[in-house]
Amino acid sequence: MNMKKHNFYAGPSILSEYTIKNTAAAVEDFAGTGLSLLEVSHRGKEFVAVNNEARALVRELLDVPDTHEIVFLGGGASLQFCMAPYNLLNLKAAYLDTGTWSSKAIKEARLFGEVEVVASSKDRNYSYIPKDYAVSPDSDYFHITTNNTIFGTEIHTIPETSVPLVADMSSDIFSRPVDVTKYSLIYAGAQKNLAPAGVTIAIVRKDALGKVNRPIPSMLNYQIHIDNDSMFNTPPVLPIYAALQTLKWYREQGGVPALQKKNIEKATILYDEIDRNRLFRGTTAVEDRSLMNVCFVMYDEYRELESAFGEYAASRGIVGIKGHRSVGGFRASLYNAMPRSSVEVLTEAMQAFEKTI
Ligand SMILES: *Cc1c(COP(=O)(O)O)cnc(C)c1O
Repeated sequence: MNMKKHNFYAGPSILSEYTIKNTAAAVEDFAGTGLSLLEVSHRGKEFVAVNNEARALVRELLDVPDTHEIVFLGGGASLQFCMAPYNLLNLKAAYLDTGTWSSKAIKEARLFGEVEVVASSKDRNYSYIPKDYAVSPDSDYFHITTNNTIFGTEIHTIPETSVPLVADMSSDIFSRPVDVTKYSLIYAGAQKNLAPAGVTIAIVRKDALGKVNRPIPSMLNYQIHIDNDSMFNTPPVLPIYAALQTLKWYREQGGVPALQKKNIEKATILYDEIDRNRLFRGTTAVEDRSLMNVCFVMYDEYRELESAFGEYAASRGIVGIKGHRSVGGFRASLYNAMPRSSVEVLTEAMQAFEKTI
């Protein structure tokens, strides 16, 4: 018996059926070549077309102006933690510390120059987004993590500053509109909201490059990837093909504003149930709640029931809601491909479980 699964994994995570079906078909026969996507040259015209169309769709969906270039890179978002300062940090950069991923980015940046951590929410286990801070105007950039995948917080109001922004958007890219003009760099690993792991999107402001004094190895140099049309070396072809399918599916859904509307609806359904249910509580400041990663625990007096609820949910096909070890409890990730009906299966399970207690 194959029960329908409701996939709440934080990453790698749910992809649309459209993405999985079309990618599987291309693994069998790619673009009518009679060959698998896995065994053709990345420089053949069929794959070059995929690579270019995917970049063009990123541009269209996020309204990326001509001032910025889009490249697909390897190495995950974690490589961007060093690649960003390598290319952009001359003397000093400002960072906002909102969780595990931002603190990793801070650690790497310190290899390249002075790093000013303008604020941190570590004092309360990263359960909120700091808002009272100043960014020195002489910073080369101000780095933010727009959505904190592990702790379930999200920056809902992008900080006003004269300093250009650099953002890790790995877990909320394409979930809401972005004003790209404010950013020197946006980067995002694919495996949260786009494609299988293996490709990272970088959206780079062209005139932010070429300002650092150090030599940059070619593979870590955004300009080299831009000059080579995102084909400096063999790109991760399968994740890029899958990304193209997801991007087409996003366009079909009505683009990013339509996705944002659905994301707000889905998150509201789940947060409303967490707030109503006497067994559960959210773990973050209400105004900073993430629409992508919903973290919640059971109240202390019910804490020992957490594993029982996990099993109860699993019996209904709910997969991947175990919280990250640094928060505990539960985390339900509601990325773009997550249907509202799966969120309702989860809230129904929470209601039914409450009645058994
Ligand atoms: C998952 C994640 C990362 C790490 O991505 P990798 O591709 O594994 O390097 C970085 N930042 C954020 C916000 C993430 O969610």
